[in-house]
Amino acid sequence: MRLSSARLDEISLDLVEPFETSFGVQHARRFFVLRLETRDGLVGYGESVATEDPLYSSESNASVRDMLLRHFLPKILRSPAITPEAFRKEVAHFRGNEMAKSAVETALVDLAAQARGVSVARYLGSDRSRIEVGVSVGIQPSISALVARVGRYLADGYHRVKLKVRPGWDRAPVRAVRRRFPELEIWVDANQAYPPEAVDRIRDWAEANRVSQVEQPFAERAIWAHALLARGAPFRVCLDESIVDETSLEDALAARAITCLNVKTGRVGGLLTGRALARRAARAQIPAWVGGMLESGIGRAHNVALAARGEMTLPADLSASDRYYREDLVDPPFVLGPGSTLEVPRRPGIGVEVLEKVVRRHRISSRTYRPG
Ligand SMILES: [Mg+2]
Repeated sequence: MRLSSARLDEISLDLVEPFETSFGVQHARRFFVLRLETRDGLVGYGESVATEDPLYSSESNASVRDMLLRHFLPKILRSPAITPEAFRKEVAHFRGNEMAKSAVETALVDLAAQARGVSVARYLGSDRSRIEVGVSVGIQPSISALVARVGRYLADGYHRVKLKVRPGWDRAPVRAVRRRFPELEIWVDANQAYPPEAVDRIRDWAEANRVSQVEQPFAERAIWAHALLARGAPFRVCLDESIVDETSLEDALAARAITCLNVKTGRVGGLLTGRALARRAARAQIPAWVGGMLESGIGRAHNVALAARGEMTLPADLSASDRYYREDLVDPPFVLGPGSTLEVPRRPGIGVEVLEKVVRRHRISSRTYRPG
């Protein structure tokens, strides 16, 4: 593939309701959409999942913009034959910056799939037509608000919920949800909020309330603390932020610090690494699933394609468009189907149409770059 242009749009989309995690409250998402066009007229889209400030990881919109403008876009625009695989190799010497790499890699996968006349899902070797999904519930203003929120999601048709927790918002809210919904499958996610000393306390309230999965309670590099928690635990210890590439997964497996893998396309630099991690998890016989970063329909389409792979044995954190945004950037939007599922788009590429009119309505800036 040879590119004729790369357009970088900065978008701001208001969330349907604020989303609070252990590192803060988000009212809107500000992110980049990358639109690549080939000389043959194919158009591919990618999305960056970085946020304004480096809170989830060390990346931010500023770092993503810098990497794209100074390094990645000039490279792909100059290349006479760019592919997702070649791009991964060419940028491997840049440390980290996985979200920036992913924005480009996913757009290239969209193009490569279209060039083959297949969907991104098919390109990745995914074979499901629907994927099972759950919903991630942010920290709420009160316990009664949380219980009501969970009730509404269950009424909407979601089968499992993941509760965001942090020190001071754990035992009591989890117990209240368990009491109200005795049969519900409950996962929790702390986004690194606990000190390693909290191992016994976490085990205590998680076990008492039949939590089936505890996600990333400790800092991304605190592998040993996760290993302590995982030892003999009746719940899965899922790693998210700690796993950024194949090496970090090997380390966590060797340390027995991981019994479940959250795969996020943006966190690991794109779909190809995401697929490799899922394969490794399957070989290690630990379940894997696809996590979300409040993506618009563009990133969601890529994630859904990855979640359709057979190694993804647990429901994804990829909810319907209306759980996040009043107006999505794609058509059709993702809607919740029977059995808490989303349909995997079948048309070539991401398989949904990007609504340029909606993109224009929500964009803050736009610049187009051409070769030479
Ligand atoms: Mg997480």
